[in-house]
Amino acid sequence: MSITLEHLSYVYNPGTAYEKHALKDVSLEIPQGQFVGIIGHTGSGKSTLIQHLNGLMKATSGRLLYEGKNIYEEGYDMKQLRTQVGLVFQYPEYQLFEVDVLSDVCFGPKNQGLSKEECEAQAKEALQLVGFPEKYYHQSPFELSGGQKRRVAIAGILAMHPKVLVLDEPTAGLDPKGRDEILDQVAQLHEKTGMTVVLVSHSMEDVAKYVDRLIVMNQGEKMLDGTPQEVFRHYKELEAVGLAAPQVTYVMHDLKEKGFEVSADAATVEEA
Ligand code: ADP
Repeated sequence: MSITLEHLSYVYNPGTAYEKHALKDVSLEIPQGQFVGIIGHTGSGKSTLIQHLNGLMKATSGRLLYEGKNIYEEGYDMKQLRTQVGLVFQYPEYQLFEVDVLSDVCFGPKNQGLSKEECEAQAKEALQLVGFPEKYYHQSPFELSGGQKRRVAIAGILAMHPKVLVLDEPTAGLDPKGRDEILDQVAQLHEKTGMTVVLVSHSMEDVAKYVDRLIVMNQGEKMLDGTPQEVFRHYKELEAVGLAAPQVTYVMHDLKEKGFEVSADAATVEEA
């Protein structure tokens, strides 16, 4: 149950004046159940990379294996891959359109041919997983807060029972409280279901404290890959590309885990 990228490259508009090498020789493996953060500046290739994970984009060169099978081979079941690897785009709430929350989350399972009862059961389970309050199930999705809309959109993907959940900047446009809530929820979701979660962000601070592994993208290349601790050992390299700020966050988190009280600005650290 893994996703393997072998020397994957992607070029937009090849052979034109707008040619852009968005991914350059990226190799990596994501084992089932891992919580992975993909981090990098805007334009570093994160969105392009994750759209390869469910076959939405096809590499210019290189291979992508899902559960050991080359997805570019003729006859490969792309439809099946897309249900197994659920992709939540940036600002997913723009894709909400049904009259109420429950119908919206039911949309995916309904398309998979499930009965109304089965759809609703899966939708309710998904909404619970993202911590969406039951009292709003019959409300229009458009009347919800930003954070709640995002929960509904994530539930819409979860209701299809994917094995891998890929989230592109799930906190974009939310205030700090909404951001923390969504990230906490995603972390809980990973813990409860054990599913593979790939979380894309341009903010190291957002993801570093949650994930098992960090993949740092820079100008289309995989720059660093390891546990947050391993990645932060390359502090100088991160600093050189303007991605260093998280060190403080990480140290703070580590201290809190060890039972210290750390003030928000990290100015004081006391034994709890
Ligand atoms: P990120 O998600 O890290 O912001 P992207 O994968 O969106 O990065 O973009 C990687 C590079 O590819 C950027 O230089 C971007 O301008 C370029 N790019 C993205 N989408 C297109 C497109 N549809 N056509 C041409 N270039 C694109």
